[in-house]
Amino acid sequence: MKSLKEFIDTYKDYPKEGIEFKDVLGIIQEPRIFKELILKMSSSQIIKNAEAIISIDARGFIFGSAISLQVSKPMIVARKPGKLPGELVEKNYSLEYGENTLSIQKKALQKYSSYAIVDDLLATGGTVNCVSKILESNNKEVIGVLVVVELMKLEGKLKLNYPIESSITF
Ligand code: AMP
Repeated sequence: MKSLKEFIDTYKDYPKEGIEFKDVLGIIQEPRIFKELILKMSSSQIIKNAEAIISIDARGFIFGSAISLQVSKPMIVARKPGKLPGELVEKNYSLEYGENTLSIQKKALQKYSSYAIVDDLLATGGTVNCVSKILESNNKEVIGVLVVVELMKLEGKLKLNYPIESSITF
């Protein structure tokens, strides 16, 4: 049987020279593999102990919403600029290949007190760190972080003081 890792394609020098882009979209083209992964991620203690899931724009939504359905827990989203209506909490940060801002709807954030952060990939940890800082500054508890892929050599884990689980490491 093919391992989960074999469904991740690598694109050299995308979106910038020097970056090895890991494309997780091959996983959702294989429903059996996708399901296996979602069941595994859903069984994590991090998900069990969190009141809600917060998933990150945009590939994080794919995995976060599937987990949310599987475990019947609410999901809120952290989105890139210009994508969310209403009153927002926002923060700027740097990621492996640039700068970004993430926003969360205040109204959604107020509803739940503890969160599991879900994204497709952990590189430098800047993105997940940004979300955790927004949560902390709004007096929310971060239970932990779940990603599909972790790029070990970038040591994103060192930025984060929470349990982090990844299903595939490079
Ligand atoms: P970072 O903030 O550096 O941990 O970057 C993580 C975010 O950027 C995730 O939301 C990924 O979707 C994206 N990302 C960063 N580096 C890569 C990479 N090498 N391959 C695919 N996605 C990446």
